[in-house]
Amino acid sequence: MIDPEAMSSISAVARSAAQRAPDKICNRFEGRDTTFKDFDRHVDQVAHGLDAGAAKVVAYLGKNCDHVFEIFIGATRVGGMFAPLNWRLAPAEIIEILRQYPPQMLFFGPEFSEAIKEISAALPDIQILAMEEGDGPWETYEAWRDAQSSEPAADRASTHDPAMVLFTSGTTGVPKAVLLSHSNLLQPKLDSLAVKHIYDHWDDEDIGFVAMPLAHIGGIGFWTIAFVNCCTSVILREFDPVAALDAIHTERVSKLFVVPAALQIVIQHPEAKRVDFSCVKTVMYGAAPMPLPLLKEAIEVVGCQFIQCYGMTETTGTIAILPPEDHVPEGSERMRSAGRPAMGCEIAIFDPNGKPVKAGEIGEVAVRAPANMLGYWKNPEATTKTLRDDGWLLSGDAGYLDEDGYLFIHDRIKDMIISGGENVYPAEVESALYAHPSISEAAVIGVPDPKWGEAVRAVVTLKPNATLDEKEVLAWMRGKLAAFKCPKAIDVIDVMPRNASGKLLKRDLRAPYWEGRE
Ligand code: ATP
Ligand code: MG
Repeated sequence: MIDPEAMSSISAVARSAAQRAPDKICNRFEGRDTTFKDFDRHVDQVAHGLDAGAAKVVAYLGKNCDHVFEIFIGATRVGGMFAPLNWRLAPAEIIEILRQYPPQMLFFGPEFSEAIKEISAALPDIQILAMEEGDGPWETYEAWRDAQSSEPAADRASTHDPAMVLFTSGTTGVPKAVLLSHSNLLQPKLDSLAVKHIYDHWDDEDIGFVAMPLAHIGGIGFWTIAFVNCCTSVILREFDPVAALDAIHTERVSKLFVVPAALQIVIQHPEAKRVDFSCVKTVMYGAAPMPLPLLKEAIEVVGCQFIQCYGMTETTGTIAILPPEDHVPEGSERMRSAGRPAMGCEIAIFDPNGKPVKAGEIGEVAVRAPANMLGYWKNPEATTKTLRDDGWLLSGDAGYLDEDGYLFIHDRIKDMIISGGENVYPAEVESALYAHPSISEAAVIGVPDPKWGEAVRAVVTLKPNATLDEKEVLAWMRGKLAAFKCPKAIDVIDVMPRNASGKLLKRDLRAPYWEGRE
């Protein structure tokens, strides 16, 4: 149960949880359990350690690990900010980010044992600590933490102060540094409480499963939901289908947040047949478009309630929800929807001049919500472009609201194809391709074309042992979609390029066609 009194900051939540459920397990990670009481004590120790080092911005570079959440909340307890970095970036990219947004302290996971040498040589002013024993000359997290006082540290976290710098997934370009406050992280949960309605109710015995990368809102945001509800989180170092199925089977996790690509790998894994899914109460999914056939298959396999979440880093995650009651097979059209505004959120669709359009008309999705970011760190120009003075945040996504207020996301505006003067929304074409029996995944891009400006091109992966006859599929598509929307050609590839958030990198698919032109 959430205690509204304790919701002034994420650090206050930790204090309150330690008092209410001292011996309950907060985090379970690779055989290591930490109770809420120990968690809060570790947070105090981290706070003392950071204070001594005057660290205000604390960064983390590595895969998921339970200790990272202690560092996160410890940094906020001294009034500082936590900045988790995407471990999939190359060392040169990481150095660039750290140069632009310098932390005083950087913790790194064992995956970075080698790269950290280059990083520390380039940025000698940053104090570096290793998360695990034996990682070179660096002091380790546990040794450093345990050398600190475990007296309660003064809590200097304040509701509207920034608590976190979270980088966007970098799907459309260079990742942007989003500043999120304590209130951003907590307000959506408070709003739900205020009206005694939580779209996804958590009981004391619920167990959250944190398998998405914590450097993205889907990972850290979902852990925060479990934490605020004083529930145990089972944390995976990184997503892996067998480990995920094992956690469901043996840890009896009950709440999951997954991206569609991860869900597909889990439910289609041969081991899935041997797993008892009866412990799973809710699967939340989002972060990328969900193909309808996959959603139907997942509902069949897992057999629990499904909730669709649409949101972005800039809105601290979910702003629209498709609730379980809209997940009915006969309501197929509605199952394609991103749902209705989450509590406390307003959603509107704007034309290119920033004026609202009518129901059914496509435009840019905009949101006014308590969890809208404070802004982009050190980038007032980008902040002004995205976050209007009247509080509306422009998402960069194209979509429409139907007569009943359901949001349908078409595509990112940057991914829209203009072919012969007609707008083609790749999502619509992809959704048609997904219905073909040989196709496992589909991506539709615009490629340069002397006649049409851009031509529609499909890139697909195939189901196991399937083959594809391009002519047959192109003819089949013409029976389903207007001619200008149909792909002119299809490329078959082995693996779709995705980033750490599981999002398709269309810019990588487009690159070979646009080389030297874009
Ligand atoms: P960048 O802004 O750096 O290009 P990004 O937009 O992918 O990267 P995130 O903030 O992690 O970074 O992702 C937000 C975006 O993810 C949304 O703007 C939207 O395009 C997509 N998205 C999120 N949830 C959904 C969903 N349920 N259905 C479809 N798309 C979604
Ligand atoms: Mg974005």
